Amino acid sequence: MPALSALSRPTCPRCQRPLSACICRFATPTPHATEVLILQHPLEEHHAKNSARLLHLSLPRSRMVVGESFDAAALQALMPTPLYTVLLYPPTQYPDHALPAVLDPLQLADPAGVRLVVLDATWRKSRKMLHLSPALQRLPRWVLCDVPAGRYAIRKAHQPGQLSTLEATCAALAQLEDDAGRWQPLLAAFDGFVAQQEAFLKDRPLALE
Ligand SMILES: [Zn+2]
Repeated sequence: MPALSALSRPTCPRCQRPLSACICRFATPTPHATEVLILQHPLEEHHAKNSARLLHLSLPRSRMVVGESFDAAALQALMPTPLYTVLLYPPTQYPDHALPAVLDPLQLADPAGVRLVVLDATWRKSRKMLHLSPALQRLPRWVLCDVPAGRYAIRKAHQPGQLSTLEATCAALAQLEDDAGRWQPLLAAFDGFVAQQEAFLKDRPLALE
């Protein structure tokens, strides 16, 4: 696991990455009404190409937790405020999964009353997280209508539509809050982050794993 070698190097206390690859300068605080809960798969945590940390550093109303399975009590503890909670995830049909609650579009009309749950994982690992977490299976699903083209060149098929977690979440918030322009500075900063990662990985081919 090459990514673990990062632990032995000096680490930025804010973004928790090696100082040489600190991403704090890309953090772009962006106001938003909808609460965001980012559930990050443990394999993503020390991944050089992880966009969720930058997302979390940029969203004041976000929370990020690392884990693979989340039972009902754990999720409840992460969502203390009663909000209409939706999972940003495409519809799936697994016979052993609980049926998701039917999405009520009227509830989405008030972005401040909504909580968006995002899984930060490869597509395969996100299915595992869902599989291990019946409480997540039961959340109403919400999918992006028009998926913008992914900018995330360094990691393919990260999610359906090939959007990174950051891009997918920004697109979701832009749709929910009907304001695409607000997300442009963060998306521009993300382009800088991607360029930094590409340069960083070129110097350290082992981290390409
Ligand atoms: Zn940093």
